[in-house]
Amino acid sequence: QGDPRLKAISEAIRVVPHFPKPGIMFQDITTLLLDHTAFKDTVDIFVDRYRDMGISVVAGVEARGFMFGPSIALAIGAKFVPLRKPRKLPGEVISESYVLEYGKDCLEMHVGAVQPGERALVIDDLVATGGTLSAAIRLLERAGAHVVECACVVGLREVKGQHGLNGKPLYILVEPR
Ligand code: AMP
Repeated sequence: QGDPRLKAISEAIRVVPHFPKPGIMFQDITTLLLDHTAFKDTVDIFVDRYRDMGISVVAGVEARGFMFGPSIALAIGAKFVPLRKPRKLPGEVISESYVLEYGKDCLEMHVGAVQPGERALVIDDLVATGGTLSAAIRLLERAGAHVVECACVVGLREVKGQHGLNGKPLYILVEPR
Protein backbone atom coordinates (compact mmCIF):
# COMPACT_ATOMS: atom_id res chain seq x y z
CA GLN A 1 0.00 0.00 0.00
CA GLY A 2 1.22 3.49 -0.73
CA ASP A 3 -0.02 5.21 2.42
CA PRO A 4 3.01 7.09 3.82
CA ARG A 5 1.61 6.83 7.36
CA LEU A 6 2.13 3.06 7.41
CA LYS A 7 5.92 3.22 7.51
CA ALA A 8 5.89 5.39 10.63
CA ILE A 9 3.28 3.14 12.24
CA SER A 10 5.44 0.08 11.57
CA GLU A 11 8.54 1.79 12.93
CA ALA A 12 6.73 2.89 16.09
CA ILE A 13 6.09 -0.75 17.04
CA ARG A 14 8.98 -2.15 19.09
CA VAL A 15 10.06 -5.70 18.31
CA VAL A 16 11.22 -7.65 21.37
CA PRO A 17 12.93 -10.94 20.47
CA HIS A 18 12.33 -13.98 22.68
CA PHE A 19 9.39 -12.53 24.60
CA PRO A 20 7.48 -14.04 26.35
CA LYS A 21 9.40 -17.15 25.37
CA PRO A 22 12.35 -18.17 23.18
CA GLY A 23 11.75 -17.83 19.44
CA ILE A 24 8.84 -15.36 19.63
CA MET A 25 9.38 -11.95 18.00
CA PHE A 26 7.02 -9.96 20.19
CA GLN A 27 5.44 -6.96 18.44
CA ASP A 28 5.05 -4.41 21.23
CA ILE A 29 2.36 -1.87 20.37
CA THR A 30 2.84 0.06 23.64
CA THR A 31 5.54 2.09 21.89
CA LEU A 32 3.01 2.95 19.16
CA LEU A 33 0.71 4.33 21.87
CA LEU A 34 3.54 6.62 23.03
CA ASP A 35 3.81 8.24 19.59
CA HIS A 36 0.81 10.56 19.30
CA THR A 37 1.00 10.96 15.52
CA ALA A 38 1.42 7.26 14.79
CA PHE A 39 -1.29 6.30 17.30
CA LYS A 40 -3.74 8.84 15.86
CA ASP A 41 -2.91 7.81 12.28
CA THR A 42 -3.60 4.16 13.20
CA VAL A 43 -7.04 5.00 14.60
CA ASP A 44 -7.80 7.40 11.70
CA ILE A 45 -7.02 4.77 9.05
CA PHE A 46 -9.46 2.35 10.68
CA VAL A 47 -12.09 5.09 11.17
CA ASP A 48 -11.86 6.15 7.52
CA ARG A 49 -12.30 2.56 6.42
CA TYR A 50 -15.24 1.67 8.70
CA ARG A 51 -17.19 4.93 9.07
CA ASP A 52 -19.65 4.23 6.23
CA MET A 53 -19.98 0.46 6.54
CA GLY A 54 -23.05 0.45 8.75
CA ILE A 55 -21.14 -1.00 11.70
CA SER A 56 -22.96 -0.74 15.04
CA VAL A 57 -20.61 -2.93 17.13
CA VAL A 58 -16.85 -2.76 17.59
CA ALA A 59 -15.77 -5.87 19.51
CA GLY A 60 -12.28 -5.64 21.01
CA VAL A 61 -10.20 -8.64 22.06
CA GLU A 62 -8.62 -8.47 25.55
CA ALA A 63 -6.25 -6.85 26.17
CA ARG A 64 -4.70 -4.98 23.28
CA GLY A 65 -7.91 -4.79 21.25
CA PHE A 66 -9.10 -2.55 24.11
CA MET A 67 -6.40 0.00 23.24
CA PHE A 68 -7.74 0.69 19.74
CA GLY A 69 -11.38 -0.42 19.71
CA PRO A 70 -13.06 2.25 21.86
CA SER A 71 -11.54 5.17 19.89
CA ILE A 72 -12.74 3.61 16.64
CA ALA A 73 -16.21 2.88 18.08
CA LEU A 74 -16.69 6.47 19.29
CA ALA A 75 -15.57 7.93 15.98
CA ILE A 76 -17.84 5.75 13.81
CA GLY A 77 -20.86 5.97 16.11
CA ALA A 78 -20.79 2.33 17.24
CA LYS A 79 -20.91 0.64 20.64
CA PHE A 80 -17.83 -1.06 22.09
CA VAL A 81 -18.09 -4.65 23.32
CA PRO A 82 -15.17 -6.18 25.26
CA LEU A 83 -14.36 -9.82 24.52
CA ARG A 84 -12.69 -10.94 27.72
CA LYS A 85 -10.61 -13.75 29.13
CA PRO A 86 -12.53 -16.22 31.35
CA ARG A 87 -14.14 -15.16 34.65
CA LYS A 88 -13.67 -11.40 34.14
CA LEU A 89 -17.20 -10.45 33.07
CA PRO A 90 -19.73 -10.30 35.95
CA GLY A 91 -22.91 -10.95 33.98
CA GLU A 92 -24.18 -13.97 32.08
CA VAL A 93 -21.72 -14.87 29.33
CA ILE A 94 -21.24 -17.02 26.27
CA SER A 95 -17.76 -18.57 25.83
CA GLU A 96 -15.67 -19.84 22.96
CA SER A 97 -12.42 -21.69 23.50
CA TYR A 98 -9.55 -21.78 21.06
CA VAL A 99 -6.30 -23.64 20.70
CA LEU A 100 -2.98 -21.95 21.43
CA GLU A 101 0.50 -23.17 20.56
CA TYR A 102 0.63 -24.75 24.01
CA GLY A 103 -2.77 -25.35 25.53
CA LYS A 104 -6.12 -23.64 25.27
CA ASP A 105 -7.67 -20.29 26.01
CA CYS A 106 -11.15 -18.85 25.96
CA LEU A 107 -12.96 -15.59 25.21
CA GLU A 108 -16.24 -14.53 26.77
CA MET A 109 -18.90 -11.96 25.86
CA HIS A 110 -21.86 -10.69 27.86
CA VAL A 111 -25.23 -12.03 26.81
CA GLY A 112 -27.33 -9.11 25.54
CA ALA A 113 -24.37 -6.93 24.54
CA VAL A 114 -25.08 -7.54 20.86
CA GLN A 115 -28.49 -7.90 19.22
CA PRO A 116 -29.29 -10.27 16.32
CA GLY A 117 -28.67 -8.62 12.96
CA GLU A 118 -26.11 -6.09 14.18
CA ARG A 119 -23.08 -5.47 11.98
CA ALA A 120 -19.81 -6.01 13.84
CA LEU A 121 -16.13 -5.24 13.44
CA VAL A 122 -13.62 -7.32 15.47
CA ILE A 123 -10.40 -5.58 16.46
CA ASP A 124 -7.14 -6.83 17.98
CA ASP A 125 -3.54 -5.62 17.86
CA LEU A 126 -2.10 -8.62 16.02
CA VAL A 127 -3.12 -11.74 14.15
CA ALA A 128 -0.78 -14.74 14.07
CA THR A 129 -2.62 -18.05 13.52
CA GLY A 130 -6.06 -16.43 13.53
CA GLY A 131 -7.27 -18.67 16.37
CA THR A 132 -8.14 -15.74 18.64
CA LEU A 133 -10.07 -13.88 15.93
CA SER A 134 -11.92 -17.06 14.99
CA ALA A 135 -13.16 -17.46 18.57
CA ALA A 136 -14.25 -13.81 18.53
CA ILE A 137 -16.16 -14.33 15.27
CA ARG A 138 -17.91 -17.40 16.70
CA LEU A 139 -19.03 -15.44 19.77
CA LEU A 140 -20.53 -12.64 17.68
CA GLU A 141 -22.21 -15.04 15.28
CA ARG A 142 -23.73 -17.01 18.17
CA ALA A 143 -25.29 -13.72 19.30
CA GLY A 144 -26.74 -13.34 15.79
CA ALA A 145 -24.43 -10.55 14.64
CA HIS A 146 -22.97 -10.29 11.16
CA VAL A 147 -19.17 -9.95 11.29
CA VAL A 148 -18.28 -7.51 8.53
CA GLU A 149 -14.49 -7.73 8.96
CA CYS A 150 -11.65 -8.34 11.40
CA ALA A 151 -9.01 -5.62 11.76
CA CYS A 152 -5.52 -5.77 13.24
CA VAL A 153 -2.64 -3.34 13.37
CA VAL A 154 -0.08 -6.09 12.69
CA GLY A 155 -0.50 -9.30 10.73
CA LEU A 156 1.17 -11.80 8.49
CA ARG A 157 0.26 -11.72 4.82
CA GLU A 158 -0.39 -15.48 4.91
CA VAL A 159 -3.31 -15.16 7.29
CA LYS A 160 -4.73 -12.52 4.97
CA GLY A 161 -5.71 -15.54 2.90
CA GLN A 162 -8.49 -15.93 5.49
CA HIS A 163 -7.86 -19.48 6.61
CA GLY A 164 -9.14 -19.98 10.08
CA LEU A 165 -11.22 -16.82 9.98
CA ASN A 166 -14.44 -18.58 8.97
CA GLY A 167 -14.19 -16.85 5.57
CA LYS A 168 -14.36 -13.38 7.11
CA PRO A 169 -12.18 -10.67 5.57
CA LEU A 170 -9.13 -9.50 7.47
CA TYR A 171 -7.71 -5.99 7.25
CA ILE A 172 -4.18 -5.37 8.51
CA LEU A 173 -2.06 -2.23 8.45
CA VAL A 174 1.51 -3.53 8.66
CA GLU A 175 3.47 -6.75 8.63
CA PRO A 176 5.57 -7.86 11.61
CA ARG A 177 9.21 -6.80 11.46
P1 AMP B 1 -3.37 -15.92 17.14
O1 AMP B 1 -4.58 -16.37 17.88
O2 AMP B 1 -2.38 -17.01 16.91
O3 AMP B 1 -3.73 -15.20 15.86
O4 AMP B 1 -2.60 -14.89 18.09
C1 AMP B 1 -3.03 -13.57 18.21
C2 AMP B 1 -3.07 -13.14 19.64
O5 AMP B 1 -1.85 -13.41 20.33
C3 AMP B 1 -3.30 -11.64 19.72
O6 AMP B 1 -4.19 -11.33 20.79
C4 AMP B 1 -1.90 -11.06 19.95
O7 AMP B 1 -1.95 -9.96 20.83
C5 AMP B 1 -1.09 -12.22 20.53
N1 AMP B 1 0.20 -12.43 19.83
C6 AMP B 1 0.53 -13.53 19.11
N2 AMP B 1 1.78 -13.45 18.61
C7 AMP B 1 2.25 -12.24 18.99
C8 AMP B 1 3.49 -11.51 18.75
N3 AMP B 1 4.48 -12.03 18.02
N4 AMP B 1 3.60 -10.27 19.29
C9 AMP B 1 2.60 -9.73 20.00
N5 AMP B 1 1.44 -10.35 20.27
C10 AMP B 1 1.23 -11.59 19.78
